[in-house]
Amino acid sequence: MTGEFISQRALALAPSATLAMSAKAKKLRAEGKDVISLSVGEPDFPTPPHICEAAKRAIDAGRHGYTAVGGMPELREAVAGTLSRKIGFPYRASQAVVSPGGKYSIYLALLALVNPGDEVLIPAPYWVSYPEMVRLAGGTPVFVESREEDRFAVSAGAIDRAVTPATKLLILNSPSNPSGQVVPPAGIEEIGRLLERRGLWCLSDEIYDCLIFGGAVHKSIASVSEYCRDHTVAVNGCSKAYAMTGWRVGWIGAVPRLAAVIENIQSQTCANLSFPAQAAALAALTGPQDCVAEMAAVFDRRRQLIHRLLNAVPGFSMAMPSGAFYALPNISGLFGRTLGGKRINTPLEFCEAALEKALVAAVPGEAFGAPGHIRISYAASEEVIEEGCRRLAEFAAGGR
Ligand code: GLU
Repeated sequence: MTGEFISQRALALAPSATLAMSAKAKKLRAEGKDVISLSVGEPDFPTPPHICEAAKRAIDAGRHGYTAVGGMPELREAVAGTLSRKIGFPYRASQAVVSPGGKYSIYLALLALVNPGDEVLIPAPYWVSYPEMVRLAGGTPVFVESREEDRFAVSAGAIDRAVTPATKLLILNSPSNPSGQVVPPAGIEEIGRLLERRGLWCLSDEIYDCLIFGGAVHKSIASVSEYCRDHTVAVNGCSKAYAMTGWRVGWIGAVPRLAAVIENIQSQTCANLSFPAQAAALAALTGPQDCVAEMAAVFDRRRQLIHRLLNAVPGFSMAMPSGAFYALPNISGLFGRTLGGKRINTPLEFCEAALEKALVAAVPGEAFGAPGHIRISYAASEEVIEEGCRRLAEFAAGGR
């Protein structure tokens, strides 16, 4: 066979902008450059010791084999308990499926729900991987605008206007990556009622639900009504709350039939999450929870710091984020200027020049459906944040 041998599906897939930028920063660092990376969203804390100990014990006890595809029974019980507590409806272990990472949980849920031609509503700004995963699953992403003056909290009205007879599903992500904003409970309730009126499903990515600040309240859309409970796939995991990104622990909670289908797809595509990671997740969910609150308190201080420092960067403006660990400053005030010898007209051009000249890595907003913005992860120490913002300010003022 001659000609193109890569599948159409793979050719159409954009690389993950978050991971690409973090890889670029790591490469420059390996070359000896003093790069400040505010790109990837991962807690800079080590995983708490009692969680690591549980994984070590699992390895030492010889637990090296397969487990049930959706996770060992004790872990599924613990996840179901967490879902029940957070959502306020009882979930059984059979409704909880543990997967290698929340990211994979999302993909499995999309594969289980989306038929070719189905439209999937994605409020913008959105996390980079949602549209690509929807396309991989054969669906069509349809973007729903949210307004900067509303702090990017998507409204039920905007979602309603985007619904067509082909709409199957809404992807909701609150607290949001990349805006760091939280949809208030009243907004969630309105969106929940809309789902019911329009007969839609919801994939609710709640991975940042433990990181909410300044009086913001997280409400899971699954908690709004029995309809919402039965038509929501709630996604969560250990990565952000317990500083466990590399352990790859994610899960879904869904109605039993859907959970069984998701487990079935996982059985044919990767089997189970490794046992040591499951043991760690069990320790995380059933052990002391102070570590979660302690890390969240640190992120809260950094949030206030980055809000103050970024708003002082010439040409930057941003609202105070209320969740996750991202800032999404509007940098369009810089467009048309020449910085570091380069004309800046887009966030991508800004990020490329900032990385090259100021050695600061941030992710361009284009990848998140946020033109005019860049995403900054403040999952970094205060010293790193201060130095990163100092360099950005110097660069934006034309001095670097
Ligand atoms: N979700 C994180 C981020 O947005 C981790 C990287 C990724 O998988 O996108 O930076």
